[in-house]
Amino acid sequence: MSRCISCLLLLAATLVTGQLNSFPVAAQTPTELAAQVKQIQDNIKVQAANKYIDNHRDEILREWIAITEVNAPSGHEQKRAKVIERLLRSYKLQDIRYDSAGNLIAVRKGTGGGPVVVFDAHLDTVFQPGLKIKATVREGRVYAPGVGDDTRNIEALLATIRALNAAGIKTKGDLVFVFTTQEETNMSGAEHFVRENKGKVDSYVALDGGFEGFTYAGIGINWYKHHFIGPGGHTRSRTPPYSASLPLARAISRIYELKVPTSPPSNLNIGMLGGSEVVNAKAADAWFTVDLRSTSNEVIADLEKKIAAILQDEAQRHGVKLSTEVISSSPAAVIPGHRDSQLVKISEAVHRAMGFNPPITPTGSNNSSAALLAGIPSISTGAGPCQDSHALTENCEIEPLYLGIKKILLLELALAGM
Ligand SMILES: [Zn+2]
Repeated sequence: MSRCISCLLLLAATLVTGQLNSFPVAAQTPTELAAQVKQIQDNIKVQAANKYIDNHRDEILREWIAITEVNAPSGHEQKRAKVIERLLRSYKLQDIRYDSAGNLIAVRKGTGGGPVVVFDAHLDTVFQPGLKIKATVREGRVYAPGVGDDTRNIEALLATIRALNAAGIKTKGDLVFVFTTQEETNMSGAEHFVRENKGKVDSYVALDGGFEGFTYAGIGINWYKHHFIGPGGHTRSRTPPYSASLPLARAISRIYELKVPTSPPSNLNIGMLGGSEVVNAKAADAWFTVDLRSTSNEVIADLEKKIAAILQDEAQRHGVKLSTEVISSSPAAVIPGHRDSQLVKISEAVHRAMGFNPPITPTGSNNSSAALLAGIPSISTGAGPCQDSHALTENCEIEPLYLGIKKILLLELALAGM
């Protein structure tokens, strides 16, 4: 019914303005979307799927732990992928395969006519090969390296597939589950997937971190190492030029005086520095690192320019040379207008329907950026609250994961259609 009304409105708008593009065809108000999501939530089959999740809590916890204990350092994901592949095969999904980047892909075919929705959870961990992982459960938490990042989300996807199957739910669009490699190093698994599947994916949900809210853009992260190169020499050697540590100190102090905006969210950090190896020599190579982040590529470019000017100035003033290495660089992943897109609005409605008041931010830093940079609408969220990610003390709360799994299930249905 509401569809027809918006059709008429669209027609009227087209007649008046003669423009179609300015009026999104599928635009729906938050109230309409909330009603749609509620309808899915109230569907008897969806309730059966949620019941299935409640009735299989112990099995979910056991499987979550078992997968966590198969360590999968970036670039060494095959063993963990095999465990997941075996489970996927038992779910009778179509088209289970690996691509040439080692991503494990499984398709749950829709009935047709709906959008293709990708759900991604990454296989890899930051922990070194050979690390023996043994999870412990105490006071409502699971402790194990990698239990949260990103095994909680792998388990959430597996549990939703079982719940959908048990409840006999069919979606309109295809649900494509992608268990990706190398997220923690350079997102090369996701990058490979989006390159191969561009044009075939309508939306891309990266499950990584998050619980109550989600991100709709990726923050740009640039790392640099700046060197001042001087003549060095003994403490008593003729000066100037002084030790190259002097321009370094002055440059650092001036860089920290630069205005770094909080909106758009931006950060600047000088974390590492070095100079001479001994006390009684001038630094011939005084260096420091800069970690520059922003959700705006214009802000990054502007700060880069200002930092370069300071470095030039100090190098000249002290008669030393300057060299800059870019350690790594990934731009902010932003699609203009994406905050008001259907994907973001539906995701917001789903989070609200689950009882969250979701933080919605443009500061993602995960595989969602790979999709956004390829022009594919994407968000990132997660299935449960965890702490100490990337540390040996990593741990997650158990109880909220079941709610998180239901949220992911609702997101799958709201995005792919029922
Ligand atoms: Zn992660």
